[in-house]
Amino acid sequence: MERSKRIILVSHCILNQNTVVYPLARAKGAYKDIIRELINNDIGIHQLPCPEYRFLGLKREPMTKEQYDIEDFRNINKNIAIDTVNIIEEYLSNGYEVLGIVGINESPTCSINGNKGILMEELINILNDENINLSFIDVPNDYHDGEKAEKFIVEFKNLIK
Ligand code: SF4
Repeated sequence: MERSKRIILVSHCILNQNTVVYPLARAKGAYKDIIRELINNDIGIHQLPCPEYRFLGLKREPMTKEQYDIEDFRNINKNIAIDTVNIIEEYLSNGYEVLGIVGINESPTCSINGNKGILMEELINILNDENINLSFIDVPNDYHDGEKAEKFIVEFKNLIK
């Protein structure tokens, strides 16, 4: 059986910058330096859905958390959070190691540190209710593959080791 049984959950746009609001994409596709670390360490990558893409599609304008914080968008995020916690629980109850969740700093939806985004608020609330303790890390808002990634990759390697 070739499974590593090691999983990480990542915000959608870490693997696919094509869903990011114009003009904020910071790569053509994936954040290669982050994904390379995961592939080299045989870690399974669970990609979270992109809530903003689901809600407003590709032509959306940049918006603040306050602008996003309406019932319909909350509900999308609550449903994603419930689904995600079910997935995490299935992994944990089958002996998998869930290494953590990677968010996007300063996103109104996917930021974990500081002012939490709406998805991460919903997700962390349910994880707390279920007594599931995970590690969390945010991709910094000045992240770019290459030199600018180096500091973050050191921190990231500590999380996935
Ligand atoms: S909503 Fe989250 S996954 Fe979608 S583009 Fe923004 S930060 Fe990335």
